[in-house]
Amino acid sequence: MTVEASPVNTQAANTATATAASTFTGTAADIQVRHDWGVAEIEALLALPFNDLLFRAQQVHRQYFDANAVQISTLLSIKTGACPEDCKYCPQSGHYNTGLGKEKLMEIQKVVEQAQAAKEAGASRFCMGAAWKSPRARDLEVVTEMVRQVKSLGLETCMTLGMVDTQQAKKLADAGLDYYNHNLDTSPEYYGEIITTRSYSERLDTLASVREAGMKVCSGGILGMGETTTDRAGLLRQLANLQPQPESVPINMLVKVAGTPLENVEDLDPIEFIRAIAVARIMMPKSHVRLSAGREQMDDSTQALAFLAGANSIFYGERLLTTGNPQANRDRELFSRLGLHPEKRDEVASDEVREAALKAAMEEQARTNVEGSLFYDATQEATPATGNGHARERKPCGMVV
Ligand code: SF4
Repeated sequence: MTVEASPVNTQAANTATATAASTFTGTAADIQVRHDWGVAEIEALLALPFNDLLFRAQQVHRQYFDANAVQISTLLSIKTGACPEDCKYCPQSGHYNTGLGKEKLMEIQKVVEQAQAAKEAGASRFCMGAAWKSPRARDLEVVTEMVRQVKSLGLETCMTLGMVDTQQAKKLADAGLDYYNHNLDTSPEYYGEIITTRSYSERLDTLASVREAGMKVCSGGILGMGETTTDRAGLLRQLANLQPQPESVPINMLVKVAGTPLENVEDLDPIEFIRAIAVARIMMPKSHVRLSAGREQMDDSTQALAFLAGANSIFYGERLLTTGNPQANRDRELFSRLGLHPEKRDEVASDEVREAALKAAMEEQARTNVEGSLFYDATQEATPATGNGHARERKPCGMVV
C-alpha cells in the first residue's frame, strides 16, 4: 500500500494547528454550521495532529448526536448496469467491460419485499439506486409507486436515479421520497479526471432541484481515486458550503473493480481516510456522515476509528440482509464490541398510519393506472440469463455508496 504524502512534519503540523485553531475555537458551545469554508483552512484541519483532530471531531459529534448511535440504511440496486455515464470508478458504466450483468428495473413487489426484509434486519432507511443518466417519464411513474409502497412500511426512503430536474424532483417528493442521493464525487478541479459525461454544475443543479422540491439531500464523495489532499479539501468545501448542508454525507473509499480505469490506482492511506471523515464531521456538524463503500474491505480498527472520527451511518448492503451472512454477523459483533447501537427513527409510524399510507398508495396506483406498476414485469425487459444457473449479483451504483 502506498501512503499518500501528508503534511505531518512538525513545522507543517504546527502551522496547520495554528491556522485551524484560528477558525475553530474548540469548545462545543462555539460550534456553528458555516457555509463559508475555504480550502486552505480545510487543508489545515486535515493536517492537524491526528489525536487533536479526532478530539475535535468528537467534541462536535457529541454536540449534536448520540455518540454511540449509528444510523443504518440498506441499499438496493433496482436497475443495474449499462449506465451511459463514464464514471471511472463504476462497474455499472456501459463504457467499461467489468463483466457486470445488466438488469432492468425491478418489479415493485420485489422491491417492497426487500424493503420489508431490510426493516426486519434493523434498517431505518431504504435506499434504491438505478444506473440511469436521468429517469425517463415512464420509469419515474414506476419508481414513485415504489416510494409510496416502501414508505408505507414505515421506512425512510432514499433514491438515486441520476440527474433530476425540478419537475422530476417534485414528483418524487410528492410520492413521499425523503432523501435524494446525488454525490459530487470529488473536487471541481479533479472532477474532469473522473467523469466527462456530466458536469459538476449539472450535479449541483440536481441538488438544487432536490432542495427546491423539499427533499433532504444525500451527497458525498469518493476518496482514493488518485486525488490530492487539496482535492479532498475541495470536495468537503463544496459539500459544507451548500445551504443548507446535506443531511446525509456518504464518504466512500474507492473499491477498485477490474475493468474500470481506476482498477490500478494507488491505495489511499486509511489514516488519510479517517482524517477526511473527522473533518467532514467538524464542517458538517448536524449531518449524518456515512461510512460507505469500501467498508467491507476495512479492518475493524479502521472502522472503529471512523466511528470515533464522527461517522454515524452505515449501509447494510442488500447482500447482508440474511442473518447467516458473514458480513452482517461481523457488523453485529463490531457494534457489540464497540458498544454501538442502531439509531432509531424519530418518528416510528403507527400501524394505523402505515395502513393509511398503504391504502393511499394502492388508491394512487388505481387512479393513475401505471402500466404494470404493482406487479411490474421486469422479465419483459430482462437481459438474457447468465447461463450458469446463478442469480447475478446486483451491485449498487458506485455513486450511491
Ligand atoms: S456511478 Fe452512477 S452515474 Fe456513474 S456510471 Fe455508475 S451508475 Fe452510472
